[in-house]
Amino acid sequence: MTKQQQLDAVVKEIEQCTICQKDSIGVAVPGEGSAEAIVMFVGEAPGKTEAKTGRPFVGRSGKLLRKQIQEIGLKEEDIYITSPVKYLPKRGTPSKEQIMHAQTHFLKQVDIIKPKVMVLMGKVAALGALNREVAVSKQHGQMINENGRIYFFMYHPAAAIRFNKFLRTFQEDFQKLKVVIDRL
Ligand code: URA
Repeated sequence: MTKQQQLDAVVKEIEQCTICQKDSIGVAVPGEGSAEAIVMFVGEAPGKTEAKTGRPFVGRSGKLLRKQIQEIGLKEEDIYITSPVKYLPKRGTPSKEQIMHAQTHFLKQVDIIKPKVMVLMGKVAALGALNREVAVSKQHGQMINENGRIYFFMYHPAAAIRFNKFLRTFQEDFQKLKVVIDRL
């Protein structure tokens, strides 16, 4: 099976997952991008616009994220965009149980794509990817090397939209990410 076929199989699995669908709203939002991506952007959980369209990061925070990605010169074939949780949680924010369950799908995607850099945007992304709490306020703009992979921390774009000071930090962290990627 090609990487794309393997990713397609995970998409089917997510679309049919009754555990994910419990306490959730709307359609599945598995992720989008290249099976050969070198950079994977990881958010939190789909919002309302995403849960209607089935596409990740197409609402307000998605527009900001996609603009920043373009500005540092990354092309569609370089990236994969997803969230550790694949459905919009009824409560808005995903529970720890929802994050832990969704790992069964999310970590398969990571394993298939094998990105060189995983950009973890916010604490839910960090928990889903690394299984531990990360203080994003301290770690943002920094990378770590773990499991043979580079993880880079950032605020979630929704925080950048809500608070002006986070917007500047978010933009600065993208420039730091560019340096990391250029050195690969
Ligand atoms: N926020 C996320 O974390 N993920 C999405 O897909 C959309 C908004």
